[in-house]
Amino acid sequence: MAQPTRYVLSQDIDTNHVVSNPMNLVLLLKRELPRVRSRSFPGKTPTLAAGFGSSRKIYLGINIQLPGLPLHHSIHAEQFLLANLALNNERQLTHLAITSDGIYFDAPSGYCRQFLHETREASSIQILIKDATRGEAGRFETLQNLFPRTIRPTIFFQPLLLEPHDNKLTLSTYHDLVGNICEELERCNHLNCTALAAANRSYTPFTKSSSGVALLDNVGRVYRGWYMETVECGLSLGLVQAALVDFVARGGTEFNTIVQAVLVEKKDALVSQEKTTRMILKKITNGNCVINVFHCHLDVAEQFRRNIINIEATQGGFGKHIY
Ligand SMILES: [Zn+2]
Ligand SMILES: [Zn+2]
Repeated sequence: MAQPTRYVLSQDIDTNHVVSNPMNLVLLLKRELPRVRSRSFPGKTPTLAAGFGSSRKIYLGINIQLPGLPLHHSIHAEQFLLANLALNNERQLTHLAITSDGIYFDAPSGYCRQFLHETREASSIQILIKDATRGEAGRFETLQNLFPRTIRPTIFFQPLLLEPHDNKLTLSTYHDLVGNICEELERCNHLNCTALAAANRSYTPFTKSSSGVALLDNVGRVYRGWYMETVECGLSLGLVQAALVDFVARGGTEFNTIVQAVLVEKKDALVSQEKTTRMILKKITNGNCVINVFHCHLDVAEQFRRNIINIEATQGGFGKHIY
């Protein structure tokens, strides 16, 4: 039986080979493709992405179609990879290779280039290009060369997708759950605490609608994901999709083993995740998942800080609010 795919590789023979010669990403992906095909992921043609991070770890990503749902709910292999980086606190991608057959290694999709552009030192990310049918040895091209026209619509643009975020969401003192949230959220495995910690890591430059979700499977494992937008309006990775990346990366294969979920979002958020989250989880778990939702708000100090920034921005002549 084929060995299961590992989605984070560190300090082993694989990483050493790739560190010494990034072209060895080709061999790594060729080896992993049969392993991925042997497993029961939804979707017939797996595309695999492998990225080498500045921490010298290698991360994998696979495309996933959510059963019974329209394709815009699917996770691209590059998105999987980026969520995998975010979940593992990896800030920078240096090399990237993508293939579905081990023969062609091509550029990331147009959709995903914007996600990549919003990471640290993005223009110098090295992308593997190779067509083995032409006998090509393969070469690396920078993201900047492949996609010279990036979208940077404001003077405030910073590549923040993988940077640390603390959205400072909190429960009101009158909330039913307030006594059930632990102080050290990031270290806690409670479903409510994990979902709130995830929402606090959400990146939402457009809507400011931070949100996160925690999933529980039938053997007690907890997974998390948070909503990630880009500065390009309309491009985002959903929080359930991000949590499913955590699920798959840690060995999950059957979505109907997910039995419970907690969604955290801002009260009166510009965009709400609740209906979409319920729809996706109901569909992919065959109705097996119990879903709870609770709402948060910004803590008082953070509200005050943002008001001051907005006043300064207005007086500084920018004429618009940041938050
Ligand atoms: Zn893509
Ligand atoms: Zn807790």
